[in-house]
Amino acid sequence: MTPELITRYDQRVPRYTSYPTAPHFKPAVDPSTYANWLSELSPQTELSLYLHVPFCAELCLYCGCHTTVARSYGPIASYVELLEREIERVAEYLPARMSVTHIHWGGGTPTILSGDDLRRIMRRLDRSFGIHSDAEIAVGIDPRTITLEHVEALAGSGLSRASLEVQDYDPKVQETIKRIQSPAQTAKIAAWLRHAGVSGLNLDLMYGLPYQTTASVLRTIEQALQLDPDRIALFGYAHVPWMKRHQALQPEEARPTPSSAMSRAPQRPVPSWMRAMSGSTLIISPSSEIRSSCTSARVGCTAISRATPPTKPQPLSDSEPSTR
Ligand code: SF4
Repeated sequence: MTPELITRYDQRVPRYTSYPTAPHFKPAVDPSTYANWLSELSPQTELSLYLHVPFCAELCLYCGCHTTVARSYGPIASYVELLEREIERVAEYLPARMSVTHIHWGGGTPTILSGDDLRRIMRRLDRSFGIHSDAEIAVGIDPRTITLEHVEALAGSGLSRASLEVQDYDPKVQETIKRIQSPAQTAKIAAWLRHAGVSGLNLDLMYGLPYQTTASVLRTIEQALQLDPDRIALFGYAHVPWMKRHQALQPEEARPTPSSAMSRAPQRPVPSWMRAMSGSTLIISPSSEIRSSCTSARVGCTAISRATPPTKPQPLSDSEPSTR
């Protein structure tokens, strides 16, 4: 790996985490266009639904998501009302009551909704669309705030996959990004989920955060592996302070660049997959070649995707610099 190679591939590439991707939402695509698209679907089409909850209890300094801090439950309760109406409205435009095979709750923090409201929305989805008995139902979870009540509500609604947001276990990194979360806290929630019968467990990690080095990211991965997840998503941090002003509160000198992280002398050889991952997201699942790269070693790369964060303040072609 040479500096030239790092520079060459430290570029923006198209993102696909929202669909249609943000640049495709234009004034020409008005409500009637959307209604037509819905009504023209084949009744046999299997539906995938994404539900976004744009609220959090507090703001992490790396956050690039569409979210806002909710100081009370009032705005969240109003949002739940609107979400129900939106579900009903979308269902009305469909040519038939169509089966849902994938549901994903993201945010923000989906579990900022009460357990009752999570159940209520799931019931509404089933009434309006019909949730397939084998549907994959997934949710992003903030282990700092989820309660047993949430786990029971989600598991009782058929939750099959939970993504536990970790990002990094290093105390200095956590303090800098204002996201303090101990390994024990994450382990407790993983145990709750498994006990409740949620079979799919993801851990979301991140690289490119302040004070991270290649070696520290590897340490976090090894700690994450102790929970025996069946998937680890390793996201590249998108630094876009001109869009997300709270990101500017990170000390500039703490931010690693692809080359500085490499030059901070890792304690042991850097795995080739990590050297190649600048600006990408790795979805890692047990097995394969990466197995030999980590000490605890039960991971393998199954996909490399997603965008490199822009390095200059320029208009983004995709307005959502999701970092999760
Ligand atoms: S990173 Fe997650 S928990 Fe933190 S503010 Fe953003 S959406 Fe909320």
